[in-house]
Amino acid sequence: MDTWYTKQSPIFKEKECKSVIHEFTVKGHKGLTINPYQGCGHRCGYCYATYEWSPEFYNRIYAKSNVAGVLEKQIKSRKYQNIDSVMISSATDAYQPAEVKYGLTRKCIEVLQKYNVPYYVFTKSKIIERDLKLHQRYKDKCFLVWSITTTDENIRRLIEPGTPPVNSIFNVIKRFTDAGICCCVNIDPLIPLITDDPYHVHEVVDRSYNAGVRYVFGALLRLRSDIWERMKIILKLLHLEKAIEEYKNTIYRFEEPLKLWCNVGAIKSYETRSLQNLREIAIQKGMILDFPDINRNSRPNSNKHRGVDQELILKYL
Ligand code: SF4
Repeated sequence: MDTWYTKQSPIFKEKECKSVIHEFTVKGHKGLTINPYQGCGHRCGYCYATYEWSPEFYNRIYAKSNVAGVLEKQIKSRKYQNIDSVMISSATDAYQPAEVKYGLTRKCIEVLQKYNVPYYVFTKSKIIERDLKLHQRYKDKCFLVWSITTTDENIRRLIEPGTPPVNSIFNVIKRFTDAGICCCVNIDPLIPLITDDPYHVHEVVDRSYNAGVRYVFGALLRLRSDIWERMKIILKLLHLEKAIEEYKNTIYRFEEPLKLWCNVGAIKSYETRSLQNLREIAIQKGMILDFPDINRNSRPNSNKHRGVDQELILKYL
């Protein structure tokens, strides 16, 4: 598996896909997602999408060149006649740098709008600014989820070296909220002993609020064997060597080596405390710790059809 940290630029490759809408189920909740790219140039050390089937995840970005055509074909098929909503995207950032070259996310969004499909975009990129007008004309049926982990630039440069500076992200978010587009901030992951303390969380919530965001949520870091190897390096580089033992003995309670590709969550009491901390800070600020209802306008009489369950999002990304 590639290391997340390098100064080299990734290689872009094109490939064709046979199918683009994928179903997922998390804790009994069902959803649909599309991923116009495979791999991601944002290079987050904690990334959950670095699976064994994509060993060069950070360094070789595949652009699914026929993605918009395949999406349109699938939407027109009987199977996807009544789509509630689509997540863009679950295993890559659809507005990563490759989008400047290929524009595949934009093409997919045009298709979703053409067929009246509500969507929600997860990103931590400024490149989405290019499509502000596109999203604005569809603002009743879309919302944007900004994944922000920290406002500390030293930490961001280390844990997410391919992402833009956080100040510039908040400026872009403000442009979207000013344009009337519903934006949420997803503080995911909250990283134990690095970004989950009240000061950090307060900073992210505060700056999100100032950028016009009214919805916030988050989730605590989960570990997997490859993520743990990267996290150990991150903790050492941040001079938090003692935290390595604390992760193993107190917060996650596991023995090395971790079983390959198994997820390990923090112990319940630690997770509850971290999420309670986020909840209190958000409520103090007058923000909503929830996920907006994407179908509020397209299905005015339905309380049942939420775009996706908040729990699902918390656990999925
Ligand atoms: S932006 Fe998302 S998909 Fe890309 S590296 Fe970061 S966590 Fe992974």
